[in-house]
Amino acid sequence: MNLQNHKSLKSETAMLALNGLGKTFVGSVQPVVQDVAFSVEPGEIFALIGPSGCGKSTTLRMIAGFETPDNGTIVLEGRDITKAEPERRNIGIVFQDYALFPHLTVLDNVAFAIRDTEKKMRRKKAIKYLDMVGLTGYGDRYPDQLSGGQQQRVALARTFAATPKLILLDEPFSNLDAALRHSTRREIRELLKANGVGAIFVTHDQEEALSFADRVAVMRRGKIEQVGAPEEVYAQPKSAFVARFLGRTN
Ligand code: ADP
Ligand code: MG
Repeated sequence: MNLQNHKSLKSETAMLALNGLGKTFVGSVQPVVQDVAFSVEPGEIFALIGPSGCGKSTTLRMIAGFETPDNGTIVLEGRDITKAEPERRNIGIVFQDYALFPHLTVLDNVAFAIRDTEKKMRRKKAIKYLDMVGLTGYGDRYPDQLSGGQQQRVALARTFAATPKLILLDEPFSNLDAALRHSTRREIRELLKANGVGAIFVTHDQEEALSFADRVAVMRRGKIEQVGAPEEVYAQPKSAFVARFLGRTN
């Protein structure tokens, strides 16, 4: 099989495909995101990494629908969602500041994301999602009565409760201390894999990406420098920038 065939085969099975995505903010000269193209396979955990300010969050926000690209397309399961409203994309998003409702209990925070009309059914399902993230019995508490790691898991339960096709995570562990970061990311990885839900995960922490993701894309100044399996990108960096960013000294 030649490379061309291989490429087209891949994009046919892709869950999400970005093509030539670009964004320049009003008032700035340089594009913040330029010609970004990659695809994510069903159930795949994909990391987008790069230094602060390189355009990772902007890329994620375009996928979520919070920013409109100037160029390019976003295709989810064969449907062009480039201009679709965020709530019609079937994409979940978890930010670093969990954004839970402080005046709602943990259970109600999760139930909020469930579309059933019947309250009893929403609560029943919310309990199931709390069990799933290891928070059985925490439903009656309020967010400020939980640790940072627990709040992050509530946010994840709420995201899962909306049954998205794809979950976007923007620096989700950066508010957690080192030990908690390790255990939380392992749990989240297991949850995603057990449920066959794909994820794009943004971080400036290369070590985290290399250990968490199935594939990584290294971004620099709005462009993708390299995409590949963690071991491949680490062993065969395409540029001095990639090598340096991944902490290789030679
Ligand atoms: P990253 O997540 O990789 O740190 P961002 O995507 O947040 O980077 O930002 C990339 C660049 O775009 C930065 O220089 C940032 O200041 C700029 N930027 C982000 N959002 C806006 C906006 N709404 N208006 C203008 N500039 C923005
Ligand atoms: Mg960011």
